[in-house]
Amino acid sequence: MKFADDVFITRILKKNGKVIGALGIDFKKKGSVVFQSKCIILAGGGYSRVYSVSSSRDFENYGEGVALAYDAGAELADMEMVQFHPSGMVWPKKAIGILATEAIRGEGGMLFNVNNDRFLELYDPERMELGPRDEVARAIYNEIASGRGTKHGGVWLDVTHLPRERVLKRLPKMHQQFKELAGVDITKERMEVAPTAHYSMGGVKTDLLFFTKGEPTEQIWYYDLSDIKVTKKKPLTLDKFDEFFRLLPERADSERSWTETIEQIKAKNYDLKAVNPNRKEVKDERTPAEVLDIIEAKGKEVAEAIARLRELIGNQRAP
Ligand SMILES: Cc1cc2nc3c(=O)[nH]c(=O)nc-3n(C[C@H](O)[C@H](O)[C@H](O)COP(=O)(O)OP(=O)(O)OC[C@H]3O[C@@H](n4cnc5c(N)ncnc54)[C@H](O)[C@@H]3O)c2cc1C
Repeated sequence: MKFADDVFITRILKKNGKVIGALGIDFKKKGSVVFQSKCIILAGGGYSRVYSVSSSRDFENYGEGVALAYDAGAELADMEMVQFHPSGMVWPKKAIGILATEAIRGEGGMLFNVNNDRFLELYDPERMELGPRDEVARAIYNEIASGRGTKHGGVWLDVTHLPRERVLKRLPKMHQQFKELAGVDITKERMEVAPTAHYSMGGVKTDLLFFTKGEPTEQIWYYDLSDIKVTKKKPLTLDKFDEFFRLLPERADSERSWTETIEQIKAKNYDLKAVNPNRKEVKDERTPAEVLDIIEAKGKEVAEAIARLRELIGNQRAP
């Protein structure tokens, strides 16, 4: 098996309803690359980075693999099933979402809301902080959403009651992480944490097979994209390439390689219809004035809801 590093796959290529390969961008060669194949094994990871707060690094898990399959006509399932890890950092900005490992709670870490209530007593008095991820995450979320969160929108995770040596021995990475990222010494100060999107349980429905009857080949075609800049920093903003991807399946069988600029392709006036026949084209035929009316009405609804909530919270606070 050959490995192609530094290649970002941007489209699964199909012909006559069958998958015939994939198209990608070779960041080293600064051009696109076509792989012809009998079948494709998709292993592009999850999509938890679609949430603004996620435990994934900021360059991964945007669901590119899932999107590739969807565009090729695959069905997706259970996309809403995303697991939230109970404890991600909430500040500073660069650290938002980074995990505070569950080992902290395993070691005896306790969770408190801003009123210093050990709130899990209300939610899961038997297991307390050692309950399953979803329940602890939901309890934390509920505390924050109910106005009992800390100033950075989290709750307190506390190991300051443990001997310093034990924290340093058992949680050295967390000690280092909080010190370096937030300037917090977790042996003396509490950590501020909140749930963070962690694990994608939905994805591509796997009863669909993408096989072609063609012979396997290892040919790789390079395409000279001389008028397109490939930015390494923002690999996801390659919209300009889209036109190429739609065209390639038609040509992949007949020609080994070719060179064309975007202008030349545009001049040929190809039919650039969406690859996925199930994708719904949404046409917004409302006038700007109508849209404004809707926004105004929604704004009013929200204001009323907030006022009502304030009233309710006020009532609860009253002795
Ligand atoms: C912070 C964190 C901690 C975790 N801790 C644990 C743990 O302790 N134990 C555990 O079991 N699991 C853990 N997980 C979950 C585990 O990491 C994932 O379940 C696992 O990595 C998923 O494997 P995968 O091969 O499906 O996807 P990934 O490991 O995400 O691999 C996908 C690969 O596809 C590549 N890719 C994506 N799109 C394209 C494209 N278009 N073209 C080319 N390449 C592409 C990506 O660069 C990546 O290399 C953790 C996850 C996170 C975020």
